[in-house]
Parts: sequence; C-alpha cells; structure tokens
Amino acid sequence: MHKLTAAQATRQVNRLSGLPRFAELGKPGIAEMVRVLCDRASDEDHAERTVTRWIDTSKWLPSCAELVEALDATPEKALSLKPNWECEHCQGSAYERIWLLVTYVRHPSGHQKECEEKEITAEVAQQLMNEVDGHFQKVCSAVKYCRCKFGQEIKRLRLIKMAENEDKAHRGSKREK
Ligand SMILES: [Zn+2]
Repeated sequence: MHKLTAAQATRQVNRLSGLPRFAELGKPGIAEMVRVLCDRASDEDHAERTVTRWIDTSKWLPSCAELVEALDATPEKALSLKPNWECEHCQGSAYERIWLLVTYVRHPSGHQKECEEKEITAEVAQQLMNEVDGHFQKVCSAVKYCRCKFGQEIKRLRLIKMAENEDKAHRGSKREK
C-alpha cells in the first residue's frame, strides 16, 4: 500500500525542476519518479527530506535508481543524530566509496574461476588501474556504510528494519500453514 499519494509525490518531484534537464524528462520521466516515491518513500515527510537533501547536495537530476538510493540513505524518521556534512569519508551521505582489487584465481578443477577481494586505498586504486591486465585482476569500486557515527547509525536502523521485515515475512508464512 502506498503511504503517500500521487499528488504528494508529484509535488516533491516538481521541486527538482530547478535542476538541469528537468524539462527533458517529460511526462513519462516524471511519472517514473512519482512511481518510485510512491513505492519506496515511507511517507510524505520522508520523500520531502530525501528531495531536500538531493537539491542541497547535487548538481544533476537524479535517475530513478539514484532516487531509490537517496531514499534508502535518508532515515525514515528524522534522526536526532544529524549527518556530519564535513565527514571526509561520506560528506554526510552515510555511505563511503571503497576500492577493491579483485583477483581471479583459476579453480584447480579447470575453467572455473574464483575471486578474491582485497580492500585498497584510493591512491593504490588509481595507481593499479593502469597496471592490472583486467583479465585476472580488476580494480572495482563499491559502497559501504561510512565508519562515522551517522553512517553506523544508518546501518543499525537498516539492520533493524531488515530484521522486522524478515519477522513479518516469517509470521506471514506461519499464518498460511
Ligand atoms: Zn561519514
């Protein structure tokens, strides 16, 4: 069930109209964003805070995927713990980018390959990017919860929510029996 109406979602999407290329979205593009907010925002306040944060921190229009990420990164209830915009790792987003060196190891049995991942620093990633052959080793970037207080708080809330959903699903399946 949707917790915010299409009209409320449309109002929030229209707040992005100051960003470049909004006019190019057209009705279908706007409808997709409205759908994302209706499907994923927990209520109008959650949608509003997500959009406000996007406008305050981004120079471009979000894609639907970016909007989903932004909703996920915005706590559903206003937190007492405020993001630390000065955090050198996440700039207040709660997520930090990490770099991985992925090494593929040929499986003893033959063709199958296994991979090993090792976290490396951005400097090492830059350096290695031109050196690895891309076939047996690759430099990849990934995202994880920031080590700062805010990032860890978001992680904690996410885990609680996941546990709640699992619990609901569990109770649901019990009822079916
Ligand atoms: Zn941080």
